[in-house]
Amino acid sequence: MNSPAKRATRVLFWDIDGTLLVTGRAGLIAWEEAYREQSGGQPFPPVRPDGLTDHQIAAWLLGHEDHTSTPGADLQAQAAAMVARYEAGLGPALPLRKGRVLEHVEAILASLPSLPFIHTSWLVTGNTRPGATAKLAHYGLDRFFRPADDPSAPLDGVFSERVEPRARIVERALAAVRRRWPDLHPDEALVIGDTPHDIEGAHAIGVPVLAVASNTHTIEDLQALKPWRAVPALPDADAFAARILARE
Ligand SMILES: [Mg+2]
Repeated sequence: MNSPAKRATRVLFWDIDGTLLVTGRAGLIAWEEAYREQSGGQPFPPVRPDGLTDHQIAAWLLGHEDHTSTPGADLQAQAAAMVARYEAGLGPALPLRKGRVLEHVEAILASLPSLPFIHTSWLVTGNTRPGATAKLAHYGLDRFFRPADDPSAPLDGVFSERVEPRARIVERALAAVRRRWPDLHPDEALVIGDTPHDIEGAHAIGVPVLAVASNTHTIEDLQALKPWRAVPALPDADAFAARILARE
C-alpha cells in the first residue's frame, strides 16, 4: 500500500520507543518478570516479535500468534493481567538499563507550541498509558505531552488498552482529534514512528507516516513500505518544522 497523499500537517502522532527515546530494553526485564510470575516459571521465549503493542506482546507470550485479530474475553483478561504485572515492574526496571532521549527530540517537542499550524501533538503508541508515563517521566519528556498549566494531568494521547491490531490505536486517535477538530482530514495527521508496524497501522486508516530509521530498522526496510518520507534520524527543529509543513 502506498502512502496516503499528505497535506500540511496539523496533528502529530508520536510513537515512543525508537522514535522519542530508547530504554536499553528495560521493558524486557519487566516482561520477563511478568511472564515468570504468570507462567509459573516457564523460560522466556528467546525471540520477541518487534513492533507489537504491549497487549499484543502479552497475548503472544500467552501463545496467541495472530496479530491481525482481536481475541475474545478470556485471552483479553489473561493479557490484561500480564500487562498489569509488566506495568508494575517497568518503573523499577528503567534505571537498570542505560537508555536515552534520541537526538533533536527535546528541541523539536519544545518548538511545537510556537508552530501556529500545529493543532496538537499526541502520543499514539502501543505502550499502555502507565507504561508510557513511566518511560516519558524517567527520561524527562512527559512535560511535552501534558497541559502547561497542569503537570499532573494524564499524558495526551491514545494508548494500548486491549489486544487488538495496532491500526485500531491510530483509528481511535484520529477519531478523538476529529471530535475536537471535525474538519481535520486523515492526511493532515502525521504518524512519526520507527517500525513497519507504525507504517502499516497508519496507512490502514489513511494517515501518512514520517518513518525514522533511528532504532532497529534500516531506512531500506522502512522505505519498502512506502511511507510518506523515511529519514535516517529526526532532523533539527527548524528542518522538522519545514518538513512537516510539506505536502504532496
Ligand atoms: Mg517504536
